[in-house]
Amino acid sequence: MSSSFTTTLAGMAVGVLALTAAAAPALAQDKPTVGIAMPTKSSARWIDDGNNMVKQFQAKGYKTDLQYAEDDIPNQLAQIETMVAKNSKVLVIAAIDGTTLTDVLQQAKDRGVKVIAYDRLIRGSENVDYYATFDNFQVGVLQGSYIVDALGLKDGKGPFTIELFGGSPDDNNAYFFYNGAMSVLQPHIDSGKLKVGSGQVGMDKVSTLRWDGATAQARMDNLLSAFYGNRRVDAVLSPYDGISIGIISSLKGVGYGSPSQPMPVVTGQDAEVPSIKSILAGEQRATVFKDTRELARVTVEMVDAVLGGGTPPVNDTKTYDNGKKVVPAYLLKPVSVDASNWKSTLVGSGYYTEAQFK
Ligand code: BGC
Repeated sequence: MSSSFTTTLAGMAVGVLALTAAAAPALAQDKPTVGIAMPTKSSARWIDDGNNMVKQFQAKGYKTDLQYAEDDIPNQLAQIETMVAKNSKVLVIAAIDGTTLTDVLQQAKDRGVKVIAYDRLIRGSENVDYYATFDNFQVGVLQGSYIVDALGLKDGKGPFTIELFGGSPDDNNAYFFYNGAMSVLQPHIDSGKLKVGSGQVGMDKVSTLRWDGATAQARMDNLLSAFYGNRRVDAVLSPYDGISIGIISSLKGVGYGSPSQPMPVVTGQDAEVPSIKSILAGEQRATVFKDTRELARVTVEMVDAVLGGGTPPVNDTKTYDNGKKVVPAYLLKPVSVDASNWKSTLVGSGYYTEAQFK
């Protein structure tokens, strides 16, 4: 084949390609990759978050790179570094430790990558563009209010005993949950109608590293043996279903959960299947449902807007100061769930099927 013929053919091929490119509408495969860094698969909610996002991003034509880090901080850092190196144009990150990402986010910024903090605020970095989450203070208010109502504190009943559990101290949300709950519980503690039997108050005393149920169970074992030898505990503030399960195992271990020694009022969060079953069995009393489909929807809208030059949905520009900037946020509404409304809220909305609770 003569070289001029080859050149002509090559030129034609380029021409055809150029024509195709010009004529074709923006194809799905033109959309960039979204890197999604989730903390762990040990809790069903994060699996739902990942699946919902992949589904919704792909429906809009994005490619996704979804990674779980099994609560290992170096692992999550390495995953995010790889996403940046592999040219993800946006990162959606639910951090394990919200303070450890400063360097990798600088690398992201230097390559023009946008960053959305997902559910958990990323602290100590200017390079966080938006934050999609639930109203975290309100989650705590719902948990605290559930205890106040269940014990009848507003009707003057009491005094009752309570123990307090907080979430992971490296998760910004944990402080919002705790403070929200205490905003409701503190007046009753001050009036003497609610007594913290152990005296352990404050996130420095009640937090649970990595939200670990076994850690919570061990602490509850200690509290029960040290402070409840001859009296009962009437309520336990628990910030997360996995922690509630640990607390309830501990309570059962010393005989709670019988007609003569009923379970205290134990709260929770995430409406995970084992905890809904526990609520139906009369053990855990309540949880807080956060519809991860909605969180995924808001996140996809944010990504669409940051990449397309639009305005991302935001309804809070004051609350989430990460130490470097106030991160513009969209806060969704959490919903309190107990035996009275689980079916309408969780099954009625299509989040779960009834068969999952059989
Ligand atoms: C989330 C909660 C969850 C907890 C433990 C928090 O950051 O907001 O929904 O229960 O992490 O996974």
